[in-house]
Amino acid sequence: MDLRELYQDVIVDHNRSPRNFRKLTGATRTQEGFNPLCGDKLMLYLKLDGDRISDVSFEGSGCAISVASASLMSQNVKGKTVAEAEQLFNRMRALLTGDGQEIDLESLGNLAALSGVSEYPSRVKCASLCWHALKAALQPPSQVRPTEVSTE
Ligand code: ZN
Repeated sequence: MDLRELYQDVIVDHNRSPRNFRKLTGATRTQEGFNPLCGDKLMLYLKLDGDRISDVSFEGSGCAISVASASLMSQNVKGKTVAEAEQLFNRMRALLTGDGQEIDLESLGNLAALSGVSEYPSRVKCASLCWHALKAALQPPSQVRPTEVSTE
C-alpha cells in the first residue's frame, strides 16, 4: 500500500466514524463554522481548563474531507495548550494551502493524511474549516464571531 492509499484510508475511516462527534456538555467555548462553497457546517466545542484544551468535540454535516479533518483535529488538539494548538493551526494552514513551507509530515502523525488536499483547491476550504473555527474559538471570547473561511 502506498502512502497515498494509506492517507485515503485514514480520511475514509474518520469520515465514516468521526471521533469526538457529539455535543460537549460543559464546553467553555463554542464556535460555528460554515463553508458556503461546499455547504460544510460545523459546530466546535472546546473545554478550556486554564491554558489547556481538556476536551474538544464537534457536530455538523459536510463532505468527507470536512468531517475527516474535524475528526482528526479533535483527536490531535485534545490535551494541548492554547499556544500548542495555535502552532498546530499554523502548520496545518501551511500544509493545506501548500504554501511552500517545509513540513515535517512525520511529526504531524495522522494529520499527514490531509497533505494531499493542497492539490485540490476546491477542497482546501473544506479541510480548513474546522481549523479556522479552532483558531477563532481560542481567541478571547469578546472577539469571537461566526467563522467563514477566508480566501487564502
Ligand atoms: Zn466540503
